[in-house]
Amino acid sequence: MNKVIIIGCGGVGTVCAYKCAQNPDVFNEIVIASRTKAKCDAVAKAIGAPNITTDQVDADDVDQLVALLNRHKPNLVINLALPYQDLTIMEACLQCGVNYLDTANYEPRDEAHFEYSWQWAYRERFEKAGLTAILGCGFDPGVSGVYTARAAKHHFKEIHYLDIVDCNAGNHGKAFATNFNPEINIREITQKGRYYQDGEWVQTGALEIHKPLTYPEIGPRESYLMYHEELESLVINYPTIKRARFWMTFGQEYLTHLRVIQDIGMARIDPIMYNGVEIVPLQFLKAVLPNPQDLGANYTGQTSIGCRISGIGKDGKPLTYYIYNNCDHHAAFEETGMQAVSYTTGVPAMTGAMMFLKGLWVKPGVHNVEEFDPDPFLEQVAISGLPWHEQFNIDLEL
Ligand code: NDP
Repeated sequence: MNKVIIIGCGGVGTVCAYKCAQNPDVFNEIVIASRTKAKCDAVAKAIGAPNITTDQVDADDVDQLVALLNRHKPNLVINLALPYQDLTIMEACLQCGVNYLDTANYEPRDEAHFEYSWQWAYRERFEKAGLTAILGCGFDPGVSGVYTARAAKHHFKEIHYLDIVDCNAGNHGKAFATNFNPEINIREITQKGRYYQDGEWVQTGALEIHKPLTYPEIGPRESYLMYHEELESLVINYPTIKRARFWMTFGQEYLTHLRVIQDIGMARIDPIMYNGVEIVPLQFLKAVLPNPQDLGANYTGQTSIGCRISGIGKDGKPLTYYIYNNCDHHAAFEETGMQAVSYTTGVPAMTGAMMFLKGLWVKPGVHNVEEFDPDPFLEQVAISGLPWHEQFNIDLEL
């Protein structure tokens, strides 16, 4: 009997729950647990599958997590709460002998800082306990790493240049909204840019470097160089990489709002006193911005995320390669009630969990997704709603 606990019941958790429920032969029992149990109950009711139960947990509290895991005794935790909870959940998994999967690297609350070191520090403890931890199994990080693993396994003798390109060409009709948790999203986008070049990290101003890139079925969109966490593990796991970068599209309206939010201090993550109460401006802003889970109903257009890679092919000749998925916001909403950004994260989380439960991605220790066999994952992720496409020897524009 396989039993998973999904912790976190936001946009991504909801999609993942739908997708696990579609595969009852693998996910025999599903528990959805989050801070607000009513949200878990509503999702369980909407899915209407007999093998789903719900529970309540504050995932900042290791003792509560340990009690939750002991109550349910799952094989695997799928952590779809916020990055702040990664370490408490990993700690509880170790105490209870449960395997672990997440979609975003740990971030301390008081510092918008993105690196795997905190989670990689758990390697030896997971290894000794015979437990597998799969890090960053959303789309990016996640599928972006698996695409790179496919390129390395099947097409390239040496990968030299890697560009991960993430376009959201959707329209939700709001003046300003973020596509996933606003606090996490704004922390990510307002940080300085960073890319890898010839063995070193090069820092840039926030969104300082940009250029138009052409996305399949979408066309040209201005794309901005940002730091993204999967670059850190990919340049280690593929040491022939000379340069690795990450690009994301933003519209002018979005950037203008973001600039104003920063200029007026609403992106601050340090606590301030307001009417005798301590508040964090960015957390207050989150409370008044549209809830990303409510964007789906009127969302049209597509996302397009992929990897553009060049280097030396298996035949020893220069090769350029593009592998990508396009996902339609409206189709994602029709299936799960959530938009494509939640969908493209929740589907790979379910797929990674399925790989673990089927014994295909089992490796005691703490691992990033590119360390596992990409083939069964890519076969399944396509069946589960995220088909992918490849192009060879094209102009990568980069
Ligand atoms: P949401 O804000 O919609 O959902 C987060 C959920 O976590 C909510 O249900 C929230 O509960 C719950 N939660 C927050 N704090 C706690 C806590 N202390 N204890 C228990 N539950 C808690 O976020 P998303 O669904 O948009 O994102 C989920 C995760 O996915 C994030 O870590 C995000 O960074 C990641 N992500 C990864 C992507 C990728 O491609 N790799 C892309 C997009 C997102 P409550 O409802 O009570 O607030």
